[in-house]
Amino acid sequence: MSDPGAGVSEDPIEPVLASTARDDAVLPATVRIEAGAALIGELRVPGDKSISHRALIIGAVCEGTSVVRGLSLGHDVRRTLAAVRQLGAAVDEPEGAGGVTLVHGGRARLHAALGLIDCGNSGTSMRLLAGLVAGLPGTTVLTGDESLSARPMDRVAEPLAAMGAAVAGRTTRCLPPISVSGGPLRAITWTPPVASAQVKSAVLLAGLWADGETVVYEPVRTRGHTEELLALAGAALTVTDEGAGRTVAVRASSLAPLDLTVPGDPSQAAFWLVGACIVPGSEVTVRDVYAGPARVGFLRVLSRMGGRVTISSRADQRADITARYGPLHGTVVDAAEIPSLDEVPILAVAAACAEGTTSFRGVGELRVKESDRFAAVLRLVASTGARAEAHGDDLVIHGTGGGGTGGGGTGGGGTGGGGTGGGGTGGGEGGAPGAPLDAFVAQSGGDHRLAMAAVVAALAARETSRIEGFGCVATSYPTFLDDLRALGVSPRTQLLAIDGPAGSGKSTVSRALSRRLGIPRLDTGAMYRAVAWAALERGVDPADADAVSAIARAATIEVGPDVVRMDGVVVTHEIRSPAVNRVVSLVAAIPAVRAALVERQRAWVAAHGGGVVEGRDIGTVVFPDADVKVYLTASAEERARRRHDEAAEVLARRDHIDTTRTVSPLMKADDARLVDTTGRSVEAVVDEIVSWT
Ligand code: C5P
Repeated sequence: MSDPGAGVSEDPIEPVLASTARDDAVLPATVRIEAGAALIGELRVPGDKSISHRALIIGAVCEGTSVVRGLSLGHDVRRTLAAVRQLGAAVDEPEGAGGVTLVHGGRARLHAALGLIDCGNSGTSMRLLAGLVAGLPGTTVLTGDESLSARPMDRVAEPLAAMGAAVAGRTTRCLPPISVSGGPLRAITWTPPVASAQVKSAVLLAGLWADGETVVYEPVRTRGHTEELLALAGAALTVTDEGAGRTVAVRASSLAPLDLTVPGDPSQAAFWLVGACIVPGSEVTVRDVYAGPARVGFLRVLSRMGGRVTISSRADQRADITARYGPLHGTVVDAAEIPSLDEVPILAVAAACAEGTTSFRGVGELRVKESDRFAAVLRLVASTGARAEAHGDDLVIHGTGGGGTGGGGTGGGGTGGGGTGGGGTGGGEGGAPGAPLDAFVAQSGGDHRLAMAAVVAALAARETSRIEGFGCVATSYPTFLDDLRALGVSPRTQLLAIDGPAGSGKSTVSRALSRRLGIPRLDTGAMYRAVAWAALERGVDPADADAVSAIARAATIEVGPDVVRMDGVVVTHEIRSPAVNRVVSLVAAIPAVRAALVERQRAWVAAHGGGVVEGRDIGTVVFPDADVKVYLTASAEERARRRHDEAAEVLARRDHIDTTRTVSPLMKADDARLVDTTGRSVEAVVDEIVSWT
């Protein structure tokens, strides 16, 4: 058993690195981006959110099993996924981002939800689900978080009531929680007073159960995803466009299962495309992006700024989009060009790099997004050395106009495949050549789009920049850092060195730190134990330096969050045996063994960009430059109590050998912080260490 730590039993720890697809995906709290790395390659971004919600809801109605590839796995879509399960559909989740989701649906499976449906912060979930449950006998209650509970649902409630459902909410504006009592519906013809894709969708979904033809007329066309997917499922549907308007008519229909690949979310693609335009030497292709005209206004803006963007259209409003580095200049952007305003933060980064002034007109709505995004964008841009001003609801940015030496990027280098490219820009003690921005430290303020925009800005900075509060990116783009790595940039997180004797609380504290900071943990003691175990197993004398170091050099040792493998054999428990306890310190005192393992520890940290590394010599020898160094101790009685499964004399002997050996003895690094864990809770210790990061 490893340290039970400060009296708190071990929690099972989630596999930090493999958790990207889960709701509880953990991303690093702090990310550092070094200057000089170009973005090169091609990728797909997470599935479009709007389409993902609709694929789940319409999939629930389809008779049979719908196959949906590339579903968005952000928090909002997960709300819809949980809701359709509550309503009776079965959903098999994908293994990871980009995987296959199976939705087993059908009219006969669906029923009103027994418990509350919690839509979290997702207005799309609530409005669309209201339309779906309007046709189900019984009452379903839909609720949400504080901010969703302040958003009126009356525009959905009215048409659903006109169709025969009873919809109730708080106040005359029908604020959530709302209850929807469904049953037989009659068809209506409806013109939403304010153009809204969500209201249109709710009415069309209810229309699937109604008696007669339900017609929605919108004077100004909104996102057409619902009618597109209904058509794909073979609904009795007609769509007529006239001028700027659209009429959609639907009749009760039996839907065939969907077979769908959700196209990439253009607002996520925007980060990489802008990045390619502003980072010298870059060229990025984002494949299979949703490119409906209402969603790609940012590309028109970028082109107007001189951005080298090429769009190769595919069928069904999808496109492959390529962007390359080149000089940008200012422009005027009207809010109507980017209806959701989602891409304003990243376009503001482009504006910061551009020559001249860019004005974003009428974007005051940014003040009521996930954060006061208006103020946050001003702050971010100002920290990069560009000038940013607020003029009423206008955001005005005076760009830096590019870097000193004009770097010019790798230029010509053929289109297609990453190739060796990149080169040119590397190194640079004096900062990245051609990079247009100053290095900065940014705080996300909990706003995922701001955090991602800041990472992209950091790529265009002359020195290393730091983004704090990065973890919120998990809500919309849990695989953002994987994609960054795929494009050739290795972000750095933090490196914490945690040393101390057995029973001082290293393992428990390191695990908790790893979870709190969203960075992986490496237990170096497990590596020495694995070598000791192998020596015993193979009948090698643990004091035979040559034989044991040969084992250490040749071994493949995998230390994961839950499992330790030695040459492919799972030894998680075996390495904690009394026999290994007795000999591990002898093995660890052999210089050649240490050299072999230290090399691997350094390689592990280089590959992960940081980590919480625990051991005996981490702060002194392995990573003397760690960001935070901690030396844990505890009273002798407390350590013995925590290590009750290890004979006291074995523990004492281990401590003695570890502290007196000639190579890398256990000792506190001069600049390590001493933390006595005796009688303290894990939380208190972790809080203290986190405050030093
Ligand atoms: O941390 P744990 O008690 O599992 O470590 C087992 C042994 O491995 C220690 O007693 C020590 O001899 C050795 N070790 C080391 N250097 C490290 C980690 C562990 O010498 N960095």
